[in-house]
Amino acid sequence: MRILVRGGTVFTMTDRGILTEADVTVEGGMVRAVGKAPRDWQPDLVVEAAGCAVLPGLINTHTHAAMTLLRGYADDQPLMPWLEEKIWPAEARLDGEDVYWGTLLAAVEMLSSGTTTFADMYFFMEEVGRAVSETGMRAVLCRGLIGTAPHAQEALAEGVDFARRWQGAAGGRIRTMLGPHAPYTCPPEYLRQVAQAARSEGVGVHIHLAETRGELEECRRLHGVTPVALLDQVGLLELPLLAAHCVHLESDDYRLLNRTNVGVAHNPVSNLKLGSGVAPLETLLKQEVRVGLGTDGAASTNSLDLFQELRLAALLAKGMTGEPTAVTALQALELATTGGARALGLEGVIGRISPGYAADLITVDLTAPHLVPVHDPASALAYAATGRDVRTVLVDGRVVVDRGVVRTVDVQRVCREVKQRAARLVAP
Ligand SMILES: [Zn+2]
Repeated sequence: MRILVRGGTVFTMTDRGILTEADVTVEGGMVRAVGKAPRDWQPDLVVEAAGCAVLPGLINTHTHAAMTLLRGYADDQPLMPWLEEKIWPAEARLDGEDVYWGTLLAAVEMLSSGTTTFADMYFFMEEVGRAVSETGMRAVLCRGLIGTAPHAQEALAEGVDFARRWQGAAGGRIRTMLGPHAPYTCPPEYLRQVAQAARSEGVGVHIHLAETRGELEECRRLHGVTPVALLDQVGLLELPLLAAHCVHLESDDYRLLNRTNVGVAHNPVSNLKLGSGVAPLETLLKQEVRVGLGTDGAASTNSLDLFQELRLAALLAKGMTGEPTAVTALQALELATTGGARALGLEGVIGRISPGYAADLITVDLTAPHLVPVHDPASALAYAATGRDVRTVLVDGRVVVDRGVVRTVDVQRVCREVKQRAARLVAP
């Protein structure tokens, strides 16, 4: 399949910068060339991008996709009562089919708002894999592991088994990791076992880290170190590691996190909404930590629109530092693309529009009234656009959203199923 994405403002996210009235040629799932397509090059399909920005597909580095089922169910509560009294009891009722439909809904929402890759930690991961395969998305998946739960050893074995069987599935669009939930739900000995298993399987690890002040204080009291230093002690910082949140860091933590194999998923909306605080994005970037953006689950974030996260990431960095230059519009877009790719260990595969990269591309209509006039396309995208401005989405060189319509899934049926299933989960 040869696709020509014609005449857009192309954000290459490379040294070539932003190219106006440029074409992107796609063949065999990959970007072949960026610039002016040769006259004799015959595409099978033309995606008109005049008046549009063309961006690498956005990358959501931390979510729990099926939590769309619990969107808006328990808002305005602190993290621990929110988890213990509302979310965990509802999740205890989940079955595999619920997770399948919840993930499909998340995929519909993410794709239609421009996200082409997501990193997921949840349960019934076979069903998540099935949903990812069908929707045409790209994903990095892991089974969530609670080390203090009754069947923690079986869960670890299942997590390893899932990681082994699904690595490279869906034509290579699925990658896998191991997913210990957090230092406060996984004792050090369990984290050591996970690290050992990840090393022998050759996979990375996805974890929640330093999310709340309470977590930091408890970790100090129990183990005498910060959560980041604890991960260092158990050997997790030597592995490809994806650490979600990193809100409460101390000075030595930055040095520990500054490694090519460690990525941080910054989730500004979730951290604000759960009252956890604001991650020190500007310092993380200054310390050259690899940072991507995440939404977290829809039960805490409500919207999976990554445009919301990238805008807030820039605004918070400015507000917290008192410097309007702290994180620029283009830097915010980089966090959602190249930054995400780096954080997931997919640098060189996704996150840029450049020959040899996977053809994960989105077009964003810049002609709507709320974006006119476009003095600076980066500014329009970061500060004024929303996911609803996304028109066409390619993943792996396949059109999965066409002029705003998701092509791979029956969206009405997904919404119907999720409404019914959600009612059962929260029934008294
Ligand atoms: Zn999370």
